Amino acid sequence: MPLDDKTVISVRFGELWLRGRNRNHYIKMLLDNMNERLSGEDVSIAREYDRVLIKAGSPSDTDMERIKSKLSTVFGISRFETARMTKPDLPSIKKLAGSIISNFDNGSIIRIQSHRSYKQHEFNSIDIVRELDGIVRKKGIIRSNKGFTHELNVNVTKDSAFISMESLKGAGGLPSGSSGRAVILLSGGIDSPVAAWYAIKRGMYPIYVHMHGYRNNDEKALDKINCIAEKLKEYSLHYRIYFMPSHLFQIAALKSGRNETVLMKHFMLLLAQKIAEKERAELIYTGDCLGQVASQTSANLLAESQGIKYPIIRPLAGFDKEEIISIAKRIGTYDLSLQPYLDVCSINAKNPTTSASQKKIKQLAKESGMGRIAAKTVKISKALDA
Ligand code: ATP
Ligand code: MG
Repeated sequence: MPLDDKTVISVRFGELWLRGRNRNHYIKMLLDNMNERLSGEDVSIAREYDRVLIKAGSPSDTDMERIKSKLSTVFGISRFETARMTKPDLPSIKKLAGSIISNFDNGSIIRIQSHRSYKQHEFNSIDIVRELDGIVRKKGIIRSNKGFTHELNVNVTKDSAFISMESLKGAGGLPSGSSGRAVILLSGGIDSPVAAWYAIKRGMYPIYVHMHGYRNNDEKALDKINCIAEKLKEYSLHYRIYFMPSHLFQIAALKSGRNETVLMKHFMLLLAQKIAEKERAELIYTGDCLGQVASQTSANLLAESQGIKYPIIRPLAGFDKEEIISIAKRIGTYDLSLQPYLDVCSINAKNPTTSASQKKIKQLAKESGMGRIAAKTVKISKALDA
């Protein structure tokens, strides 16, 4: 579609529109997030009736593609489209549609859809389609909802009419930060970044906790984890990350044998809980997937979760590994997860138990003073904001 000063990106917010009395709060957050995501772009962003309109200065095709690509990561957007804008009356709509259709080849197939968000105009959607049908026929273009090569979507609001030739799927979900704060146990693996993405998708502000095998919170060594958090920032816009050294745990857990992996997960959940208290978060997220590896059996999940008072959300519990990988690729974290890294889990005892006993883990945690060690580890942790 040729770009001119009447070209806008029209953004729809789907689920937010249904959110009753809190609607304006959510929409304001979405607008703030869009402004943040598009900062540095030559655009103006304003709400108009049931949508948000983005007007670009004098964008090239590449600018437009980049803006659309950024928009596709903003949670809370259900659909968006590049549209031409005109007045909400039949002659104006006909004129604009006519100029767009004039570029189509004779014999091409077109689908026409029409929708009114504002119903008080003197014409309805059927009138619009009838008028456009006339233009199309004169041009020798076939109108059909099947096998079409072009589409024309007409949307009429109170003050404007929009005609678009494409409708793109947005990221869905809720604006980042609109649902509260979550502590996310982030490893360098494939799964937890995907779990984080699901937390952000439902509007959580992410506070990551990462436990590492280095003595110091050395930024260079932790670069991989920072890169994953930065990639997820395309969706979350902000985050806080805590780096926690694992040596105090390693020393205390020396005698835990085949229970070490489960005890360590319990320890990480204790760290997450301490950070949740400090940060006034409501939920803890992990990338656990049921039965995916020997350590993530239902018995182990039960044993490691005991005594944790926050809800532990495991968004990947029902996924197959292949499904997780395909999401990781789509959201851009997969390649980062494959980068080499010293994973604390790999330091653990081989052949971890698949059926930890709740009693045993409780006893080991008590004997080795896990609560106290978690408090000490939080003290020597390092937090970064982005
Ligand atoms: P992932 O790919 O997310 O590392 P995994 O399949 O390797 O998962 P585990 O290593 O058992 O499985 O980890 C399960 C979950 O425990 C992770 O998804 C993450 O939420 C948490 N976790 C594991 N290692 C760490 C770590 N070093 N720091 C913080 N959280 C961790
Ligand atoms: Mg892992």
